[in-house]
Amino acid sequence: MTEPELPIRGGCLCGAIRYEISRVPAATAVCHCRDCQRTTGSAFAPVISVGQRSFRLTSGEPRIHELAGDSGRRVRRFFCGDCGSPLFGRPDAMPRAVNVLVGTLDEPDWFRPEMALFCGSAWSWVSIPDTPRALPGMPEAVPE
Ligand SMILES: [Zn+2]
Ligand SMILES: [Zn+2]
Repeated sequence: MTEPELPIRGGCLCGAIRYEISRVPAATAVCHCRDCQRTTGSAFAPVISVGQRSFRLTSGEPRIHELAGDSGRRVRRFFCGDCGSPLFGRPDAMPRAVNVLVGTLDEPDWFRPEMALFCGSAWSWVSIPDTPRALPGMPEAVPE
């Protein structure tokens, strides 16, 4: 991938929630799962996976929606209670990771997906990017 400028900053549509990421993401992906489609209202979700220690909120307190993920384990999705923007997710299956939706970054254009996840539920007109790894579900090894 191309390298982002650090710190990476982003936030929700209304600006109430702001965050900062101090390190280059451990992984970049597009996720075609139905939950990402529902929460973003879109065909797929571009996401970056960052370590929880390199992620911090700089303003606001997101609301949390909990559900059971594909693995049956809990996934917490964080969103702005004022404008409704989905911001990031914390799956229990990846306890040290924060999965940030790339559309919420201030400068998203450096992003290139290294993986395509849950390709089994990709919409038929969507062409899976030519990534090294196009996976039917989640990767085996998850970043810290
Ligand atoms: Zn907001
Ligand atoms: Zn997903």
